[in-house]
Order: sequence, then structure tokens, then C-alpha cells
Amino acid sequence: MSAKPSSRLADLLLSRDPRQRLRITRSLMAANVFLACCALQFYAAWIGFMDYRDVYRLSGVIVLNCLAWYGVLRSGHNLRYRDPAMTLPQILSAITIIVGAYAVTGPVHGSTLMLLALVLVFGIFNMKPRGARIAGGYTVVLMGVVIAYKTQSDPVHYPWKLEIAHFVLTAAIVPTISSLAAQLSSLRAKLQKQKDELANALTRIQILATRDELTGLINRRHMMEVLGQHQKRLLRSGHHKFCLALVDIDHFKRINDTHGHGVGDEVLRGFAQVLQRGLRETDVVARWGGEEFLLLLNDTAPELANVGLERARALLTEAVLVPTLPQLKVTFSAGLTAYDEGEGLDSCIERADKALYRAKREGRDRTVMDVSMAPTVAPTRLQGAASIPP
Ligand code: GH3
Ligand code: MG
Ligand code: MG
Repeated sequence: MSAKPSSRLADLLLSRDPRQRLRITRSLMAANVFLACCALQFYAAWIGFMDYRDVYRLSGVIVLNCLAWYGVLRSGHNLRYRDPAMTLPQILSAITIIVGAYAVTGPVHGSTLMLLALVLVFGIFNMKPRGARIAGGYTVVLMGVVIAYKTQSDPVHYPWKLEIAHFVLTAAIVPTISSLAAQLSSLRAKLQKQKDELANALTRIQILATRDELTGLINRRHMMEVLGQHQKRLLRSGHHKFCLALVDIDHFKRINDTHGHGVGDEVLRGFAQVLQRGLRETDVVARWGGEEFLLLLNDTAPELANVGLERARALLTEAVLVPTLPQLKVTFSAGLTAYDEGEGLDSCIERADKALYRAKREGRDRTVMDVSMAPTVAPTRLQGAASIPP
């Protein structure tokens, strides 16, 4: 569906990137205030309080300033800078213009003071504490210089008694707003830090909840969820048949007893990697418990599922599982079964378990397929395989 013309126009004027859009919108809000300021000057000239030449000059500078900032933001030039909102430069240019307006608006110059405060309020959104201090300091110093100059050059419109009051007001209000902006900035930084920490903690919790810490494989609980999803997908579509294989390392206890638990752990880690290398990327390997692993072999018939298992078996004869003990080899026994559409997952896993038990009994280092798969698989294709008799 195509976008509405109004939203296309908004995309064109304000950009599609939501963050750029926000920056441009804020800059345009400030431009609105400036334009109101221009209108006020024309009114002041109309009632004879200002010279039209000054109004044109000042309005020209204001419009150019607004257009320049719009150009910088809309072209994306701002994205090169550390603060892409370019808050401090925008605020400094606005302050310069307003103090300039203060100097040329004669009898109505007092009204520009409010604008100074408003400009600093815009900074509250984005400025860092240092930026807020710079903006505040710059405003007070610039106002001090302009007031000192104007009380000398135009004492009629800028009588020193009134200007002292203006300066005191500026020197009191501006630093207060800057300090508020600085406090808000620290608060924002603190909130952002907490948000990042929470996000990290959440990621960590998700990993802990779904992964086995030793091998990095998914854990038993998460595997049940994955299996549930595959079961639903198969029931819905009638496609994506899958097989399950329960794999158990042979005589693993001896490794622990002979070389210690640490070596046993290294073997488990290495073994998990070899299993994954042997299988397809779409297959899922989970640590089922101890030295047992459950394999989900996707979109495959049992005879092809066994190819992956045999590839892993072959890789295992070559692999160095523990670098300090390169001769240390292990074998595994596996029970393989196909998931029957509509059956419970537990009964399927139980069949794989029975087949595994049979593989152990028949001498280990082999895959035994569940007997219900017998009609579809030629047992000779399974290395060392045997079928469970009915
Ligand atoms: P089988 O061929 O019949 O499977 O014999 P096995 O020795 O592999 O089986 P058994 O069940 O007798 O022993 C499994 C051992 O695995 C016992 C247990 O201490 C060890 N084990 C379980 N989890 C871990 C683990 O996380 N790290 C280590 N190092 N050993 C583990
Ligand atoms: Mg074992
Ligand atoms: Mg076991």
C-alpha cells in the first residue's frame, strides 16, 4: 500500500529516519519562535519603535540561520559529529542572534530577554553538563558586553539603571537554566546506563535460561520448546518431518576416573563441537544431561539423518578433543527415530532412548534405529545398526 501524500511530504521534509526527524522537528520548532520574533520586529517598526532597515537586516539573519540549520540537518551533514543534534552550535548561534536583536530593537529590547531563556530550554533535551555551562557562560558574557556598549552608545533606549536590572536578571536566570540542563543531562546519562545494564542482564538471563554453560549448546528446557515449535509446524503444514537421535558418549565415566573431571569437561565441549560440525546447520543439538545429547534432525528421512550421525562419528575419530591428550578418543552410541505426526514428544524421545539402550547393549559405538522406522530404512545403511525387534 502506498503512503499518503501528506506522509510522503513529511518524509521528504523531515526525513524517514525517526531520530533525524526528531532533530529536524526540534530545530523547526525553534525556527517558529524566531519567525514570531521577526513578526514582532515588523510590528515594532510599524508602530515606530524600530527602524525598518534594522528589521530587514535582523530578519534576514534570522531566516538565513534557520535555513542553514535546516540544510545541515536535512542533508545529514550533522551525522558526522559526535552530537548529531548539534545542540550546542545551534544554541550558540541562536543566543548570538537574540543578543543581536536585543542590541537593535531599541525601546522593545526587553522582550527579547524571554527568548534567551527559551533557547536554553531547548538545550535541556540534549546538552551535556559541559555544553550547558558553555552556553550559560557565553550568554552572560555576551549580554554583559552588549549592555555595556549600548548604555554608552544609546543611553536613551538603554538607560544604565534599567540595563543593570536586565543584566542581573540574565545573570541569575541563565545559569539556573544551564544548571538544570546539566542536572537533567546527568540524570539522562544515569538512566541510559541503567537501561544498558538491564538490557545486558536480560541477554545474560536469556542465555542462562536457554544455554548449557559448559558446552554452549541449548539446554534441555529450551530444546523442549524448540521441539514443540517443530511439532506445531509439522502439524500445521504436513511438511518438515523430523527425526530425533539420543546420543550418549561411551564409557565416559572412565575418562573422568582416569584423567579427572576437568578433562571430562573438555571432552564434553569438544564432543559437542564435533557433533555440530557433522550435522547440517538446520539441525539442532542440545545437551540433554551429563554426557547425553539430543539431536533434532530437520526435514529429513531417517536414512539421511543417519548420514549426519555417521559424519560426526567419522569426524570424531580424527578430532583432538583435549589438546594436552591428543590420543584421547571417544565413541558414542545413538538411538535414532522419526517423529510420528500427532504423537507426543515424550513418546518419541522414549523410543529414541530405547534404541540408544539397545545400541549400548549391542556393543556401543553404533546407531540403532527405532523399529517403527524399519520399513523405510535399509538397516545395512546404518553403520553397526540393528533394529529393535517388535
Ligand atoms: P556408557 O557407555 O554406558 O554410557 O558408560 P558411561 O560411563 O558413559 O555412563 P555412566 O552413566 O556410567 O557415566 C556417566 C558419567 O558422566 C558419570 C558422570 O560423573 C559424568 N558426568 C556427567 N556430567 C558431567 C559433566 O558435566 N562433566 C564431567 N566431567 N562429567 C560428567
Ligand atoms: Mg555414557
Ligand atoms: Mg549416559
